[in-house]
Amino acid sequence: MDDIFSQFGDIFGDSFFGGRGRSSGGGGRRVNRGTNLRIKVKLNLQDIANGAEKKIKVNKMVACNTCSGSGAKGTAYESCKVCNGHGVVSRVTQTILGAMQTQSTCSSCSGEGKIIKDKCNTCHGDGVVRGEETITINMPAGVADGMQLSMSGKGNAAVRGGVNGDLLIVVEEEEHAELKRDGVNLFYDCYVNFADAALGTSVEVPLVEGKAKIKIEPGTQSGKVLRLKGKGVPEINSYGRGDLLVNINVWTPTSLSSDEKKNIGAI
Ligand SMILES: [Zn+2]
Ligand SMILES: [Zn+2]
Repeated sequence: MDDIFSQFGDIFGDSFFGGRGRSSGGGGRRVNRGTNLRIKVKLNLQDIANGAEKKIKVNKMVACNTCSGSGAKGTAYESCKVCNGHGVVSRVTQTILGAMQTQSTCSSCSGEGKIIKDKCNTCHGDGVVRGEETITINMPAGVADGMQLSMSGKGNAAVRGGVNGDLLIVVEEEEHAELKRDGVNLFYDCYVNFADAALGTSVEVPLVEGKAKIKIEPGTQSGKVLRLKGKGVPEINSYGRGDLLVNINVWTPTSLSSDEKKNIGAI
């Protein structure tokens, strides 16, 4: 059993029969739980700035159609005779403190309380088969690399109609070619030549979407930072938004054209 399931995605330390789902009535029947699945979703800066809807095909264990997940052929189920359907067996042992009652999981039915008389031919009694599901994931704006979202019940289906595992979605952030991100702020390195910085100019700066023209004042020094308010990335679960910080780097050309020489002479 474990072998079949461990091939599906990462299993997060959940044992195969993760939740022990004991009912408060003390029935003690075990509820099977499907394992969690983990997938990575790649997002670019535009996805992160706006939020994105991603449709992802996930390979996972799904309920068997033939038996509707029960694992049995038709209604070929019977209550376990060993534990009378309780899933646990009680044993009385004599100790020096007197008689003690201990309970243990019924080995005959693995704690499920019922036994399949006739197994489903499609899933061989597991109630689950390998399949795939296309899942629509709404990624909120402002997420960052390594963040993990979880969709409850979208993981592997459990054997014989238990509780589905969860789908864990890990954000993988694609780097932007020109804009660097630090939290909610974006950074852009802008190179202006010496003559333009001295005389003032306007330059185009890339935004998450489109471009912006910004003015470089005459006499701008290298190292100056221009702030474009609200042109950064939104804060997750908030209305706040970061800025785009443009670092001005003035570079001095090794040779000047006669025009540039004239311009500098005019300053
Ligand atoms: Zn089946
Ligand atoms: Zn039993």
